Amino acid sequence: MPKPIILTSHPRRRAADMPALDWGAADARQRGPVVATLGDPSARNAIGTHAGSYALYRALAVASGQLRADHRPDFRNTRPAVPIGPFPAWSDPAKIVSMDPWGHLAPEMFADAIAAGRDIRPSIAVTRAHINMPELMQAMREGRLAPDGEVLLENGDACVTKIAIEPVWYLPGVAARFGIGETELRRDLFEQTGGMFPELVTRPDLRVFLPPIGGMTVYLFGDPAKLGVPQTRIACRIHDECNGSDVFGSDICTCRPYLAHGIEACIGMAQEGGVGVVVYNRKEGRALGEVTKFLVYNARKRQEGGDRAEQYFRRTECVAGVQDMRFQELMPDVLHWLGITRIDRLVSMSNMKFAPITESGIAVVSRIPIPDALIPADARVEMDAKKAAGYFTDAVPDAAELAIAKGRGL
Ligand SMILES: [Zn+2]
Repeated sequence: MPKPIILTSHPRRRAADMPALDWGAADARQRGPVVATLGDPSARNAIGTHAGSYALYRALAVASGQLRADHRPDFRNTRPAVPIGPFPAWSDPAKIVSMDPWGHLAPEMFADAIAAGRDIRPSIAVTRAHINMPELMQAMREGRLAPDGEVLLENGDACVTKIAIEPVWYLPGVAARFGIGETELRRDLFEQTGGMFPELVTRPDLRVFLPPIGGMTVYLFGDPAKLGVPQTRIACRIHDECNGSDVFGSDICTCRPYLAHGIEACIGMAQEGGVGVVVYNRKEGRALGEVTKFLVYNARKRQEGGDRAEQYFRRTECVAGVQDMRFQELMPDVLHWLGITRIDRLVSMSNMKFAPITESGIAVVSRIPIPDALIPADARVEMDAKKAAGYFTDAVPDAAELAIAKGRGL
């Protein structure tokens, strides 16, 4: 006989099983666990489930009989490689609304409930790694970086703490961040996902949502124990994913060169006794996705007059309807989670990033633009367009300059 389908759209009879969630409470136990697992529907106090978009692969694994739907993770030895926090912002319900500040501590903080059979999972994992990039080797050869045996090794390895973070949205806080009502937000999330999560509109008692989107990875350079100490100097690069450039070195944009430059600045800061922070957000193609991005590339390169800066944003808008969907409003959360109250060197020219950081209460001491020598030839179009649109720069290109085609044809 087929298993009955359990609809999630209305409260279960045993709603008493649902742990209370007090977002912004002073400690993890008071706040309560985020229960977004699927084994015990009456215990769920969140909409959606873990692993972001990868939850769909989990469905395939279950559907194809390769994963038991009731598999419980064994968390032995998985605890964070270094401690992070707690910091004061963790108990401010308005400062962090798009991730669970206690997400890395869930197996530890709720060990008793897990031992008693409740399926509670972490939404953050903290580990250590070595990274090695040819740009760092080049910086060493050119004398901009020197190995110190701790942050940067002779072979070019940089030693990092890396932190994977799944999105966990506190819906009232996300709505407030955008200045809209929670009901409107829930309705659009429901409708624009093709009705994927009915609880968004039927269960106002569930206020936390794990959206099926990419999360982020933090790379820390230097001693993480110095985070949250006001004297600690911080270098920071907030980087939004660009697979074509970041991984494959595609030359139409400045993403990988800027990322490498940010990492160089972070290593430098760590060697001076501070901490370097790279935040890597899965927001491919300004969060428009890679298909849209490649369509825009074609439209730019095929347009009459060739690929030029004056038409750069217009071509994106023609295809996507907007220029950008990254919504940097939520971006500062991770900085508050890391206990950061001041960034001494922000490796970014973007006002779209600068404004939400400073408006969220983090002071920015200096901003570091990308050195001209690192900009690939085909990326001049992008750079000029962004400078003209208000990027932080001392040389804004004029209209005549913007009208010159600088990009390669198809
Ligand atoms: Zn790019």
